[in-house]
Amino acid sequence: MRKKIVAGNWKMNKTLPEAKSLLAEIDSYIQSNSSKCEVIVGIPFVYLENAKVNHKNLKVFSEDISEHKSGAYTGEVSAEMLKSVNVDGSIIGHSERRQYHKETDEQIGAKIKIALEYGLTPIFCNGEILEERKAGRHFDVVKKQTEVALFGLTAEEISKVIIAYEPVWAIGTGETATPEQAQEIHAHIRSLIADKYGKEVADSISILYGGSVKPSNAKEIFSKPDVDGGLIGGAALNINDFSALINTYSEI
Ligand code: PEP
Repeated sequence: MRKKIVAGNWKMNKTLPEAKSLLAEIDSYIQSNSSKCEVIVGIPFVYLENAKVNHKNLKVFSEDISEHKSGAYTGEVSAEMLKSVNVDGSIIGHSERRQYHKETDEQIGAKIKIALEYGLTPIFCNGEILEERKAGRHFDVVKKQTEVALFGLTAEEISKVIIAYEPVWAIGTGETATPEQAQEIHAHIRSLIADKYGKEVADSISILYGGSVKPSNAKEIFSKPDVDGGLIGGAALNINDFSALINTYSEI
């Protein structure tokens, strides 16, 4: 059975004391509540080295990674550096990176490849913007993003990738895709993978939904057959909401 995952993305939030305290709260929550899912926290680069956690179900990810191995790339952080501070993986191709840093699907594909090369788990983010959804182009947009970024990988490599479908119009807006909208795109992504790599590979990949997930709507979304959890922004910033989201898997 594929993994169920609740992943947080802290973005550019929290000072060091705040980050330490939230991470410790999440760690101890998982410790005392035997979670039924894996928990990931994507945290700012500057805190990664200090991010020591005890529970094996809690993984620490960066929010980005360089597409380059090393060298004259001022401000970038490489896969090898992340590995050297024991990071487990990276969020790659988040819509905010695509929008504000003009990341392309080709660059995102290169980042995924290099993450895998260094034993880091990539969370590959895809998803359409509002205009594309309104024009009924969401299936095609997600298809292209997925093909360009992932389909150069071998079957063994793609099996290690986590996918996060995040309709951009639902991120941080309070607007959520309906569980049915999430399910139909997740099923579409899975069928694209099945066509290229076979059903067994497609069925082994966790596909998360992201976009204004909160304790009040998570259960309905996470219950859909092709939704394997969530990538969560706002509600990952406090222990009450985030632990309630983790706990959703005790109720499904
Ligand atoms: C995100 O940034 O990945 C996200 C889904 O944010 P939010 O939950 O705040 O919409």
